[in-house]
Amino acid sequence: MDLYEYQAKHLFGKHHVPVTAGEVCYSPDAVHEATRKIGSAVVVKAQVKTGGRGKAGGVKLAQTPDEATEKSRAIFGLDIKGHVVRRILVTPASDIAEEYYVSFLLDRANRAFLAMASVEGGMDIEEVAATKPEALARIRVDALRGVTPDKAREIVEAAKFPAKVADQVADILVNLWTVMVDEDATLVEVNPLVLTPDGQVLALDGKVTLDDNAHYRHASHADFIDREGTDPIELRAKDLDLNYVKLDGEVGIIGNGAGLVMSTLDVVAYAGEEFGGVKPANFLDIGGGASAEVMANGLDIVLNDPQVEAVFVNVFGGITACDAVANGVLQALEMLQSKGAPLTKPIVARIDGNNAVEGRAILTAADHPLIELVDTMDDAARRVAQLAAERKARK
Ligand code: GDP
Ligand code: MN
Repeated sequence: MDLYEYQAKHLFGKHHVPVTAGEVCYSPDAVHEATRKIGSAVVVKAQVKTGGRGKAGGVKLAQTPDEATEKSRAIFGLDIKGHVVRRILVTPASDIAEEYYVSFLLDRANRAFLAMASVEGGMDIEEVAATKPEALARIRVDALRGVTPDKAREIVEAAKFPAKVADQVADILVNLWTVMVDEDATLVEVNPLVLTPDGQVLALDGKVTLDDNAHYRHASHADFIDREGTDPIELRAKDLDLNYVKLDGEVGIIGNGAGLVMSTLDVVAYAGEEFGGVKPANFLDIGGGASAEVMANGLDIVLNDPQVEAVFVNVFGGITACDAVANGVLQALEMLQSKGAPLTKPIVARIDGNNAVEGRAILTAADHPLIELVDTMDDAARRVAQLAAERKARK
């Protein structure tokens, strides 16, 4: 999960990385009040989960509450790379003498972490990396040793930070590393890290990506979930503890195991080309022990997606055998029916693996009007793509 700047700065403050105080506002009136309380020049900053806000006109200096309010009116509703501004951070304006860049990120390819630092911050760091790679120091950070004061010093020297800020930057690096580890982040970035004319180093911007797999360890991170900015179907899936990602096609997908579901997306997209380019509508992995209840929740989510025209249930029986899965699908449809859900979308099922023969026999015997059983994954993908295309054409 990516965090907003104000959320990232909240974590920075918690781990003693210096930041300016700020207030998140949802309306121009709130911006007025926040600026009045600060009582000095402020920066009015669009809060969106993308970079380059400054260039897009989403970051403005203002001297007075009236000016801040006026500038916020132009920023609320602004579309920055497809992200519409609904909240604004008002923060005291800092005077800037120098702008630096520092970050830590998970370096999967090298099975380590990577520290990056530059005394040429502020602007596009991608541009610095491309045009002046020697100005961006890259230091490997061992996952077990982490960023000790010595390691921080090594980063500071590699990036050639001036002596006057070396101690402060090294301290900040150690504390940012604590953010990385204690909060289970995969990215922590500060651009710009600034030096003020009176000699203080502070983080003026912040970007943090949290590792969702560690979410269970951080009750407080639940507050960071952005309900208004998340697809409503994904939100419901999250509440039901389902591993669901909304995509933009017409074929609902339910499978067990992330690998199987991903290959299902591939075969459906491939089969769909023959039928006018129908595509998968979602990723949904109901996991190994797919009970009737989990299947019902999955079907409920997928069938309620208005874009879905047909559903592909692709299950490989393992610990949960196919006969249990087949019964699960039937019970799930009964549960949905009894809740009054309108069931009209065709479901193509392919079940294989442990007790496949028994599972198929159960579905065949049930003769459910919506369920069509197909033996192989490729044939099932083709059939569900065809059904989705037919229903779409009738609209
Ligand atoms: P980004 O464009 O999304 O990375 O947003 P930033 O928070 O980094 O802000 C963009 C730029 O605005 C920074 O690089 C600074 O040059 C400038 N800026 C941000 N906050 C302040 C501030 O408090 N004082 C001054 N003078 N400039 C600021
Ligand atoms: Mn920035």
